[in-house]
Amino acid sequence: MKNATVLISGASVAGPALAYWLGRCGFAPTLVEIAPRLRDGGYAVDFRGPTNLAVLERMGVLDDLRDVQTGGCAMRFVDETGRQLLHLPPEFTGGDIEVLRSDLSRVLYEHSHDRAEYVFGDSIAGLTETPDGIEVEFEHGAPRTFDLVIGADGMHSGVRRLAFGPESEFVRHLGYYVAGWEVPNHLGLVGESRMHNVPGKVAGVAHDHRDPKKAGTTFLFASEELAYDRRDPEQQKKLVADAFVGVGWEAPVLIEELWDAPDLYFDSISRVDLPSWSRGRVALVGDAACGATVGGMGTGTAIVGAYVLAGELAAADGDHREAFARYEHIVRPSAQRCQKGGDRTGKFLAPRTVLGMRARNRLLGTPFLLDLMLKEGRKVTSTMDLPDYRFGA
Ligand SMILES: Cc1cc2nc3c(=O)[nH]c(=O)nc-3n(C[C@H](O)[C@H](O)[C@H](O)COP(=O)(O)OP(=O)(O)OC[C@H]3O[C@@H](n4cnc5c(N)ncnc54)[C@H](O)[C@@H]3O)c2cc1C
Repeated sequence: MKNATVLISGASVAGPALAYWLGRCGFAPTLVEIAPRLRDGGYAVDFRGPTNLAVLERMGVLDDLRDVQTGGCAMRFVDETGRQLLHLPPEFTGGDIEVLRSDLSRVLYEHSHDRAEYVFGDSIAGLTETPDGIEVEFEHGAPRTFDLVIGADGMHSGVRRLAFGPESEFVRHLGYYVAGWEVPNHLGLVGESRMHNVPGKVAGVAHDHRDPKKAGTTFLFASEELAYDRRDPEQQKKLVADAFVGVGWEAPVLIEELWDAPDLYFDSISRVDLPSWSRGRVALVGDAACGATVGGMGTGTAIVGAYVLAGELAAADGDHREAFARYEHIVRPSAQRCQKGGDRTGKFLAPRTVLGMRARNRLLGTPFLLDLMLKEGRKVTSTMDLPDYRFGA
């Protein structure tokens, strides 16, 4: 087989899933992850529709995921006094199966670590393609040569920057920012989240599936693209706090916790679009290729993308030109349909006008329309004919 050694950057969802499948068909995958260990992280991700579930089943991880599923979280939009304006059932946010992203990573790691070499606490610093392979320099480790390199390193992919060009060419800001941090569960929430809107903003808090004493916030606000340092959490905290000055309900209490939060998540809601997902011996998978931050069903796309990429490499006997082209041809249309959901997330959670907020509450407060939306969500992730590949045991 050609191109046996494959370096994968990123060990969250797409990376370990790809390593699993490549290992099963005789490739030698190496994963390099910038974090010192598997990343922990409180937020939940979901899978929707038969295509997602079929891949998980074929991987043999479905039962392990069912054991740790969170069951979704009902969403209650409330006014300033806490009075309910809209209630969405757990399946609206939780899909067919919902798990913490950190649990998903752990299960994928457990199923792939004996088929792959994992290197934590390092990242790729340079890529030089030669006719026979790619010479890779690392931030810390000694240089090595691989046959192929795959970027599974998320929205802000380092591989994409090195092999395709600057992030600004491929990542489009969709007009909103999202932040999350841990807080005490002072509202005593069980299996639900509460959200409060003012135009263009939503302050939300949900119970933490891991610890009933804890909760996690989701704050979203509409904004033009902001200039800030991605490595400076103090600056990001100030941006969030400034955006929520004057917002009532529980927002001031939750913002109070922000200043000491060690774990702030802050990012723009953005969408990744590239004219091609591969260049020479380098390809992208998951959010690095077609991410949409929140609401774009990126976890399912990552899992399906990893399955098809490995399957096509195996079917082409390692011929990367043929395999990369077929992988993209099969996965891109469905990935793009999923990404459209991400385009709407900001407007859905934080409509920019009072009229928009009322219209959303009225539409989704109608059981028939809510049901229709749930069915659409499952359909969008299942528009692709999942190929059958002959993987080894
Ligand atoms: C708050 C929130 C809620 C979400 N909810 C859902 C949901 O309900 N359903 C859903 O389908 N999706 C959801 N998503 C999206 C989902 O998390 C992503 O689509 C999914 O995690 C993509 O997986 P990935 O492996 O491609 O990338 P990521 O999960 O982003 O992982 C990238 C990995 O690469 C590592 N990395 C980054 N840079 C480097 C580097 N230079 N070198 C080495 N390693 C690097 C990172 O540390 C990380 O481990 C949500 C996202 C957020 C932020």
